[in-house]
Amino acid sequence: MGRAFVYVILGGGVAAGYAALEFVNRGLSNGQLCIISQEPVAPYERPALSKGFLLPQAPARLPSFHTCVGANEERLTPKWYKEHGIELILGTAVKSADVKRRTLLTATGETIIYKILIVGTGARALKLEEFGVTGSDAENVSYLRDIADANRLVDAMQSSPGGNAVVIGGGYIGMECAASLVINKINVTMVFPEPHCMARLLTPKIATYYEEYYKSKGVDFIKGTVLQSLDFDSNGKVTAVNLRDGRKISVDMVVVGIGIRPNTGLFEGQLTLEKGGIKVNGKLQSSNSSVYAIGDVAAFPVKLFGEIRRLEHVDAARKSARHAVAAIMDGDKTGEFDYLPFFYSRVFTLSWQFYGDNVGEVVYYGDMSSGEAFGAYWVSKGQLVGAFLEGGTKEEYEAIAKTTRLRPGIEDLGELERHGLGFAVTV
Ligand code: FAD
Ligand code: NDP
Repeated sequence: MGRAFVYVILGGGVAAGYAALEFVNRGLSNGQLCIISQEPVAPYERPALSKGFLLPQAPARLPSFHTCVGANEERLTPKWYKEHGIELILGTAVKSADVKRRTLLTATGETIIYKILIVGTGARALKLEEFGVTGSDAENVSYLRDIADANRLVDAMQSSPGGNAVVIGGGYIGMECAASLVINKINVTMVFPEPHCMARLLTPKIATYYEEYYKSKGVDFIKGTVLQSLDFDSNGKVTAVNLRDGRKISVDMVVVGIGIRPNTGLFEGQLTLEKGGIKVNGKLQSSNSSVYAIGDVAAFPVKLFGEIRRLEHVDAARKSARHAVAAIMDGDKTGEFDYLPFFYSRVFTLSWQFYGDNVGEVVYYGDMSSGEAFGAYWVSKGQLVGAFLEGGTKEEYEAIAKTTRLRPGIEDLGELERHGLGFAVTV
């Protein structure tokens, strides 16, 4: 026999922290909840790792960014969990799960029994090895998923003052880390296969704006090619990267952000999977009624789009966590999760938000060259379905969020263009 809990959260990331707060707000009793995490620290706001954590002056360090400060809520320190009778089992990986027997087996050999399991195992960073390149264990190669990775990246930056970094990948990690490297006075070359950065979200026109801004900060872009191999010195440090197009770039450090894979391994063959994650219903409940999934690992129905999506963003992690706990504690009173996808980023002095879906025709507004707010709407099948805004005010961001949720009918794209941001503000 092992320890038994009414509720167990597997994973101690963003979603776990917000779920814990929701449990407490809804009257959790002492000893009912346990959180098991392979990370050695209590849940924290992961977005800080590519932003405040990497600043050269007064960088953010724990305990300052434990959840749930990112949503302007209470900061849940280890003391908070103790005071609320929540068992935090840290630095402990779960090695296997048996959903029929409702048990988890930890790497320390302990069996944990649950009535309800909430899976919040998040995702792991894809490794270069998965693309046929070896050597990513070198001390000057960094990934960025957890605190250990972030500390390693900080060490690499501090060992390379004024040096050269190559950033592999033009997605979120690549763009945010490149900005942080520049702020740390490191020369940056970004390498990615697409014709422009953030290709899955941004249009070429918007992406060009950000690339030009990065270029003005000294960042070089090498697009349309990928890493072929790494060169090492006799100490095993990477000295150069070789690209498939034949170029060789000397480096002091390499940062890799080439995507993630959800951590579903424990449940393969036991739960229904979809879109690379654990398929759940509108109550975040999986194909086994005792198991819920939240955050990056959950593939849930997005009512607005009428389809199952898996979203790898912090707002979805926070809100799916809260909804799952509401559904667990309040049963029938809790309706279906009705989520409006929301992504954002902040780099240098730039800041953007995106709501909804980026499908259909694009209508731009604002003047990108003026240094003032600009953005775009996406219109699909006669409805406004997505909105992007750079440099907006709080009220303007709220307006594009509200408008996107309403999905207003758009008959005349020209008129929408003429109204621009004013359209959202007056809807
Ligand atoms: P995670 O926060 O990844 O937590 C998963 C937890 O499960 C981890 O603690 C992990 O160690 C643990 N775990 C996994 N497997 C096991 C196991 N077998 N046993 C025990 N524990 C296990 N999103 C935004 O919207 N905006 C941003 O600005 C932003 N910035 C980001 C910056 C960085 C550097 C990163 C990495 C992500 C960023 N994201 C951002 C994405 C956001 O952080 C994630 O969507 C969010 O963390 C997902 O929460 P989660 O709880 O599902 O997973
Ligand atoms: P992304 O999926 O955002 O981007 C990965 C990028 O790497 C894509 O441009 C991808 O191209 C490219 N790529 C893939 N394979 C290679 C290769 N072999 N060589 C070079 N480039 C390659 O993932 P990230 O790693 O940037 O981010 C990881 C996670 O962290 C994501 O879940 C993200 O949402 C999250 N995150 C979110 C932030 C935010 O919301 N502000 C900030 C930081 C992280 P292709 O598209 O062709 O596959």
